[in-house]
Amino acid sequence: MTPQEIQRHLRDIRSTLPEGVELVAVSKFHPVEALKAAYDAGQRLFGESRAQELATKAPAMPDDIRWHFIGHLQTNKVRPVVAHASMIESIDSERLLEAVDREAKRQQRTVGVLMQVHVAQEETKFGFSPDELLDYFERRAFERLEATHIHGLMAMASNTDDSARVRADFTAVARLRQQILAIAPDLRGFDTLSMGMSDDYLTAIECGSTLVRIGSTIFGPRQY
Ligand SMILES: *Cc1c(COP(=O)(O)O)cnc(C)c1O
Repeated sequence: MTPQEIQRHLRDIRSTLPEGVELVAVSKFHPVEALKAAYDAGQRLFGESRAQELATKAPAMPDDIRWHFIGHLQTNKVRPVVAHASMIESIDSERLLEAVDREAKRQQRTVGVLMQVHVAQEETKFGFSPDELLDYFERRAFERLEATHIHGLMAMASNTDDSARVRADFTAVARLRQQILAIAPDLRGFDTLSMGMSDDYLTAIECGSTLVRIGSTIFGPRQY
């Protein structure tokens, strides 16, 4: 992709986003030059999925960028991610959440997180089941967090052409957010629904997404 193509893709996508929906430019596996092209077009929110890649790219880019971590995170790799990410969207276990909270406290930072929910058909995807999450909030385990704030939910829909199934997955996540708020009405700022990628983000927005994570439509195929 040339810088001009990346910038055109960004403009095209932004023109489809309603007010109140934010765009994470998912830059994993793309070189810093590609990120700079997006930055020059005004993009300030980027998504990365590997701790080492984030730790390499963040110092190479301007520091008014917000980084969201969106990949599966092992507890032994939280340190660089907490150091660089303003939000970790992919909290998929209580153990990980506790490790993030401990590390954020140690670094004297506050980190925002999203709880990743597993609603897709594929077994391979990570995340809490809806029942596990309801249980987590019923137990009010979030009250133990000292340096972490839970801003909402992140999910991926099933990887299928069946648009009814995709819509059902996103709708289930939006409903789960409402159920959690009913259980814990005092939760503050639990208002982010991160749903939608290149192929399904318009459907996700129709189902209530407030944050879309788009990679290949902006930057082209990933360079593994
Ligand atoms: C890679 C990735 C994306 C972006 O996917 P595209 O299909 O390239 O838009 C979004 N969310 C997560 C969690 C990802 O890992």
